[in-house]
Amino acid sequence: MELISNVDMEKVEKCTQLLIEFGGCIYCDQWLLTEREVFEHWIPEEHFSKIRQQHPVSQERTNIFMRCVEMCQKEKSG
Ligand SMILES: [Zn+2]
Repeated sequence: MELISNVDMEKVEKCTQLLIEFGGCIYCDQWLLTEREVFEHWIPEEHFSKIRQQHPVSQERTNIFMRCVEMCQKEKSG
């Protein structure tokens, strides 16, 4: 996904909303301590599809995550 490959990790590390909203993954029973960990934990598509097999994930949650990703895009060069 292009949005994800274009993410600026420095911005991700300052995106506290990610940590607040997704810092605990109830599906994996795991606590994530930094924004980077949150991002790397939630981003793989297998993770989302694994969750979806067991729990209905609301579109709202997905939207919040994707908004964070959008806010953390690299500046377009040129
Ligand atoms: Zn998880």
